[in-house]
Amino acid sequence: MIWAREETLPRAEIEKIQLARLTETVARVYGKVPAYRAKMDAAGVKPEDVKTLGDLQKLPFTTKQDLRDNYPFGLFAVPRKQLRRIHASSGTTGKPTVVGYTQNDLDVWRECVARIAVAAGARDDDVAQICFGYGMFTGALGLHNGLEKVGAAVVPSSTGNTQKQLMYMKDFETTLLVATPSYAMRIAEVAQEIGLDPKKDLRVHTFVLGSELMTEAMRRGLRKVWGEDINITQNYGMSELMGPGVSGECLELCGMHINEDHFIAEVIDPKTGEVLAPGEKGELVVTCITKEALPLIRYRTRDITRLMYEPCACGRTTARMENLSGRTDDMLKIRGVNVFPSQIEEALINTDGIGPNYEIVVDRKDFADLLTLKVEVEAENMMDSYTALEKLEHGIKAKMRLALGLDVRVELVSPNTLKRFEGKAKRVTDLRKAGNESV
Ligand SMILES: [Zn+2]
Repeated sequence: MIWAREETLPRAEIEKIQLARLTETVARVYGKVPAYRAKMDAAGVKPEDVKTLGDLQKLPFTTKQDLRDNYPFGLFAVPRKQLRRIHASSGTTGKPTVVGYTQNDLDVWRECVARIAVAAGARDDDVAQICFGYGMFTGALGLHNGLEKVGAAVVPSSTGNTQKQLMYMKDFETTLLVATPSYAMRIAEVAQEIGLDPKKDLRVHTFVLGSELMTEAMRRGLRKVWGEDINITQNYGMSELMGPGVSGECLELCGMHINEDHFIAEVIDPKTGEVLAPGEKGELVVTCITKEALPLIRYRTRDITRLMYEPCACGRTTARMENLSGRTDDMLKIRGVNVFPSQIEEALINTDGIGPNYEIVVDRKDFADLLTLKVEVEAENMMDSYTALEKLEHGIKAKMRLALGLDVRVELVSPNTLKRFEGKAKRVTDLRKAGNESV
């Protein structure tokens, strides 16, 4: 099922809509947002210089720092009175990033989320449980409103108290779950601990996952515990751009369809800022072309992906972005080699005898970077067999050497000993940043 006509337009028609909305947006921000006008003036570009979609490249980028510099409402293009909602994303340091919505922005948001939810398999007879933290975070309310629009019965169970979540899931016969991939895994683990088989005792058949990168290894792990024939898709968004609803995977699982009548996506070389050709991998840059309250121009997401324009078997004609390979911020430099945590997760695929949870610790010892990978063995009794442990350790080391070109330390630990997460999993600890170099 496809939710909206806009998802199936011929390329030329999509681009016509994009251009009309882009020129309108650029003129509006230039007139209403002093910070944008100053940046455009400094770059020597006027709204009338944007005549084609290619002219987008003339415009300066917007970064998270711009949002911080204009905290809280400096980049807003409407008077306070027109705002209907304010969200914020937690900043790890300092002030959060603040985003606002007019009534029209909220309507568009619902529409965009309805599209990606339907692409993910959501239907009007679903019971949809939202296991995202409510509050200032855009993820929970975004999915909540979009799924209501689809016609699902929404259960706003939020995060925490996994046993109670499971009680709702069983008693309400929940069919659709919104969560981070790591929490979807954790829920299955707790179900098994209390004697429930997620495949037989629960009715969940559709997972709409987000807010954290999902590798194919994680998808396979989820299928193993929840069932081979269930829908598991991920979707993409960020508060600054809208929240969830920017793009999402369809059931063909070949990248995330972008809501191109609301967003223009580009991929750039993160070092030079140069726009890359379709299919080339780089940093995703997004321009919001329908947002009234906070229309960001060429926002640098720091997420690494590539764009695909080939037709999709699902019937949608919108461009797709490849599932993320990481964030430019997440990239670790280990002895001069660029390493993404997702590469490590991918390399752990199909390793028998280990669980899905892992931790990466980077430290510096004797002036050399040291990457330690902590992995849980699958069964407790394995911890007693030195030979089995040694074999497993050697196997993982060899896989890492092949995938990363690096020697890593592997530490095998007992099942259920690594930290579990209800929201975004934090799998990397970089002790080098803390400045406590252990020599
Ligand atoms: Zn598709």
